[in-house]
Amino acid sequence: MTTKCDKCGYGYHEVKSPELANRIRAFGPLFRGVLVGVDPRIVHRRPAPDEYSAIENVLHVADVMRQQHNRIWLMLVHDEPEVVPVPGDDSLVNAAYQNFDLETALDGLTEASTALADAIEDLRDEEWSYTAVLHFPYRSVRNIDWVVRDAIHEGVHHLIDTRRSLTP
Ligand SMILES: [Zn+2]
Repeated sequence: MTTKCDKCGYGYHEVKSPELANRIRAFGPLFRGVLVGVDPRIVHRRPAPDEYSAIENVLHVADVMRQQHNRIWLMLVHDEPEVVPVPGDDSLVNAAYQNFDLETALDGLTEASTALADAIEDLRDEEWSYTAVLHFPYRSVRNIDWVVRDAIHEGVHHLIDTRRSLTP
């Protein structure tokens, strides 16, 4: 199992446990800070045909926050649930993403990441080690601690991609 992303440098164990919820909560303001005032044409422009535009990055991270929140809920109410694969890069071709305006997308990300952070803060100590069987990108047993750290990775990774997407 890799613990460090070779693209963005995020390490799965680099965030101390008491900081996890606040790292999640910060993504709404962080993305807003990068994108506020940016020309809508640039926000919606893909740097390459197979790379996300800024707005697609925001919507993708919001989707991930909701998805990981849902997984954690399943892990709390079921004993090691099987989590079915969800579309990943399929969303790259989801034209609906391009029709969002920036404010709506940023509000959605703030709402989703705040809800996930709130849920994390409510976790009891023993619940962090509850597990699920995930099937993407390969079958693996993961605990809630990993799911939270994976959500932070998505935010960190796509914030870098978002910044990069703004410059030609
Ligand atoms: Zn990464």
